[in-house]
Amino acid sequence: MSFTLAIIGRPNVGKSTLFNRLVGKRLALVDDQPGVTRDLREGEGRLGDLRFTVVDTAGLEDATDDSLPARMRRLTERAVAESDLCLFVIDARSGITPVDRIFAEILRKRGTEVILVANKSEGRAGEAGLYEAFELGLGEPLAISAEHGEGMGDLYATLEPYAERFEAAAAEIEFDPDAEEDALAENRPLQIAVVGRPNAGKSTLVNAVLGEDRLLTGPEAGITRDAIAVTTDWGGRPFRIFDTAGLRKKAKVQEKVERLSTSDAIRAVRFAEVVVVLMDADNAFEAQDLRIADLAEREGRAVVFAVNKWDQVEDKPRALADLRERAERLLPQLKGTPLVTVSALTGKGLDRLREAIGKMHRMWNIRVPTNRLNRWLIEQTEMHPPPAVRGRRIRLRFMTQVRTRPPGFVAFCSRPEDLPDSYVRYLVNGLRRDFGIEGVPIRFTLRKGE
Ligand code: GDP
Ligand code: GDP
Repeated sequence: MSFTLAIIGRPNVGKSTLFNRLVGKRLALVDDQPGVTRDLREGEGRLGDLRFTVVDTAGLEDATDDSLPARMRRLTERAVAESDLCLFVIDARSGITPVDRIFAEILRKRGTEVILVANKSEGRAGEAGLYEAFELGLGEPLAISAEHGEGMGDLYATLEPYAERFEAAAAEIEFDPDAEEDALAENRPLQIAVVGRPNAGKSTLVNAVLGEDRLLTGPEAGITRDAIAVTTDWGGRPFRIFDTAGLRKKAKVQEKVERLSTSDAIRAVRFAEVVVVLMDADNAFEAQDLRIADLAEREGRAVVFAVNKWDQVEDKPRALADLRERAERLLPQLKGTPLVTVSALTGKGLDRLREAIGKMHRMWNIRVPTNRLNRWLIEQTEMHPPPAVRGRRIRLRFMTQVRTRPPGFVAFCSRPEDLPDSYVRYLVNGLRRDFGIEGVPIRFTLRKGE
């Protein structure tokens, strides 16, 4: 199965150049029927052994100020609706502009899968300014040069897992709510991973949870371990805790791995239902923390921020305000994620950490019955009807939750491509408010249907 990739971004960032690089001469038929003008260019893309359809939105009128002309917004939304994945292109040389932020907002609120790409990065240009790109809420940008063909290997490595995932999704059987509930009722251990930079206090925290230095002394009564995880009782509830390479290493030698490698982080995140991003109070929410948190969000995991070594912080109220501000600004995609301050060393705050993990786990598993959802949809659309676009009213008829872990909803809409982003936002915000779904990703998809 192949997938469809949309190239999104403001004018002049290099969308056409990237399109041409991916598509080469294999351009799909454009304007082959007289009288039909296509706004979106399509082509057959290739990168290594990957095959996909590329949709390009280039050639739209300029958006030079803070506004985005309506036509451009509409076409972008259509491209997003028609594709499985978006490459959102920014210009590494000019930094983030207000128009970039508008595009990011559209993409984030649509809940589409997005790969952020910083073009014109040849010769490491623009590297310094890319930290601010985190503020777009789309993680760390992938540096490429469409013109010089640099970074295509990284782009391949980024796209490949998506291609696999789309293949798997196509084969996926329908979500079975009963099976989910059985699993919950069984009191299965809650799977967590504690991830963070070296010295954040991961071993200290895990040891505190296990009670004493049991990680160092191996299996004991009440603790079982396998190659990747330790199972233990924490506050009367079974937990399986991912054993990061760092933790295991520590049991033998006192050597620190310089950084958590990406593949370790991915393994930990995929293992976990709830990811605890552990940070040192002294230097929390730096680039690597943001990367891990973003990865967890993209993988659809529930997240809890844990700020450690709180015993050492002097002005606690002020530090807490700073941390909240950083979290909100640098990780807008994780709005509502609980932030817990702890001291792994003294054990202070660990009960609150456990409660936050439990709460996020319940949110992640939440299931709203279809009849409640549809009563709710009727209320919402009566209170605030979808607008008329080009003279015709858009209808939203039916909604259902198609998955949990994280919660995912599908709404059937007469013209999904025309439903404004703001209306989708209204619905998703409403779901959060009325069903109390906070701090976990919500997947929201519009499908065509009367
Ligand atoms: P679009 O409006 O987003 O489709 O942008 P274009 O593909 O038309 O590119 C806009 C300008 O940026 C053109 O002058 C390109 O030659 C230039 N450009 C595109 N990619 C790169 C790149 O990787 N490096 C540099 N330095 N310039 C680029
Ligand atoms: P890891 O590399 O993330 O596994 O970090 P460690 O658990 O090895 O901790 C790194 C250092 O931070 C050690 O010297 C710990 O004693 C210290 N540490 C861990 N947690 C706390 C805490 O809550 N308060 C203080 N003051 N120090 C801590």
